[in-house]
This record gives sequence, C-alpha cells and structure tokens, in this order.
Amino acid sequence: MDKPKLEITLCAPRGFCAGVDRAIQIVELALEKYGAPVYVRHAIVHNKYVVEGLRRKGAVFVEELDEIPPSDAPVVFSAHGVPKAVPADAKARIMFFLDATCPLVSKVHIEANRHFNEGREIVLIGHAGHVEVIGTMGQLPAGAITLVETAADAEAFTPRDPQKLAFVTQTTLSVDDTSAIVEILRRRFPSISLPHKEDICYATTNRQEAVKKVAPNVDAMIVVGAPESSNSVRLVEVAQRNGCPRATLVERADTIDWSKFEGITTLGITAGASAPETLVDEVIEAFAQRFDINVSAHGAGRETIVFNLPRELRPASPAA
Ligand code: SF4
Repeated sequence: MDKPKLEITLCAPRGFCAGVDRAIQIVELALEKYGAPVYVRHAIVHNKYVVEGLRRKGAVFVEELDEIPPSDAPVVFSAHGVPKAVPADAKARIMFFLDATCPLVSKVHIEANRHFNEGREIVLIGHAGHVEVIGTMGQLPAGAITLVETAADAEAFTPRDPQKLAFVTQTTLSVDDTSAIVEILRRRFPSISLPHKEDICYATTNRQEAVKKVAPNVDAMIVVGAPESSNSVRLVEVAQRNGCPRATLVERADTIDWSKFEGITTLGITAGASAPETLVDEVIEAFAQRFDINVSAHGAGRETIVFNLPRELRPASPAA
C-alpha cells in the first residue's frame, strides 16, 4: 500500500545554541585534557542523549559537590549557572572547577549584582524550581530577589520601595508571556530599572520566532527536546498559541505517540536549544518509515554566535 504523503517543514534556526555547544565542549575538552573522571554538577544541558554520550566518555554526573569523593578530578558547573555558594564551596574543598555557565546567564547574574549594589530590590521573572532560577536567586542574599512567575504575581507584587526596583529575567522564557508581565510591572512601577538589553537570549527568541512562522501552516508540530528543558517546553506553547494546537514534545523517535499524527499531511519540526540535530534526523527517519515525506526548511539562516572557552581549555597559542 502507498504511504500517505507528508510535507515536513524544518524550522530554522533550531537545536543547539552557542551556550549548549560551549558547555558540551567544556566537558569533552576536560576529558581529553585531564582524563576521566570529569565530574559534572547537574545535567550539563537538559538532554538525556547528550548526558549519556558524555557519561560513556567518562563524565560523572552529580547533583551536589559533596557527592564527589576527594580527588584532583575537575568538576564542571552546568550551562544553567549555579548559586554563588557553589563555587565558594568548591574553593573551600580545594576542588578544581570549570564553569560552563552560559555567558548569557552570567550576564543576568552580573546585572542582578549591579542592581543590588546600587540599592535596588530585584524582581526575577522566571519559573520556580528551574535550575537557572535557583542559580540566579543564589547570586544574592535571601530576600534580595523576588520571583514573579505570572501576570497575576506581577499584579500582586508589593515592593519595599517602588522607586528602587529593577527586574531581570530567566533567559529561556516565552517572549510574549514575559512582555505581558513586563508591561504590568512598568505600568505599576514606572521607574523600574530594565535590563540594558533583553535577558531572554537570542537562541530562545530566534527559535520562538521560527515556530511562529511555521505553526499556522502545519497540521502538527514536533518540538524535539526534553520536558526539563524550559526553552523546549516554551516552543510547544508558542506553536499551540500560534495556530498549531497539535504541537507536542518528543524526546526520541521511539517515544512518538503516533495516534497524535493520524491523518496529517503537513508537519513542522523544531528542536530546543539542548537537542542535538541527530535526534531531529532520527524523528524524520521515523516519519519516513510511515509516510512518503518531502522535507524543506523555513526560516532564518545559521546563527553565528560563538562563546569563548574557559582559559584552561583554550588551545595553547603558537610560540612567537
Ligand atoms: S538557551 Fe540561551 S541562555 Fe541558555 S545556554 Fe543557550 S544561549 Fe545560553
């Protein structure tokens, strides 16, 4: 029997961002340079496939530093950032650590510190319990930062002094939800200090923009990514709110719920910033087994942002 035809549109850009790429490279280069084991505090990026690949090469994942036996082995902090107490604890234990915090998360930490030093109370727009939010809140003493998750929280928030107020955000939020919250804060507290430049990172913004263009034109949308990945979950929501209610998160091809794709003739595919392209290929291959597929891409070209590696892992400059 002939397979049904399916037009697949790949959103561009999708998948790995510069911060994820750098974090994975840091673990791989540390393994090359110092040998196994290399300890990694928390999943280096929120993707099981990536974590398993690094584990096979000799990375050992822990949640807290006290799980690491006394050793000279390096410990890498994940891309999401860590509370200030973590590097302080590592120093106290005389551990050798490499910080894979994405520079765009570090930028938010620096902003929060600046506001605090200038005497402002800080609102962090983000999701409770997310590891990046824990890291950002942990830059400052308890009480310095108040978490605002929703528009209702923003309406209810009472600052100590509305004249001395600033906000920062998690980097992987929904651009639209966040601007609604920011609007409320600015209406209620007109002198609130804003980030110099958007805290929601370029990768999150670009992936959401690409999904908005494709979602209204497809019967279903797949976001390749993990449920713990904030930017992946946001991509599903963005697709659902922008014309594609049948949008769903898929971790691996073997977890696809095929009942969700019955009768479709068009499909959009994107991937969260921590999902490797090989998982997108795997999903396309799974559809090719059931459908007669034609694949095209839609959206902007390649992203060119690259972040520097920590000094310890940069290639030695050639002798003069
Ligand atoms: S999603 Fe954005 S903030 Fe997070 S690692 Fe990637 S570039 Fe950095």
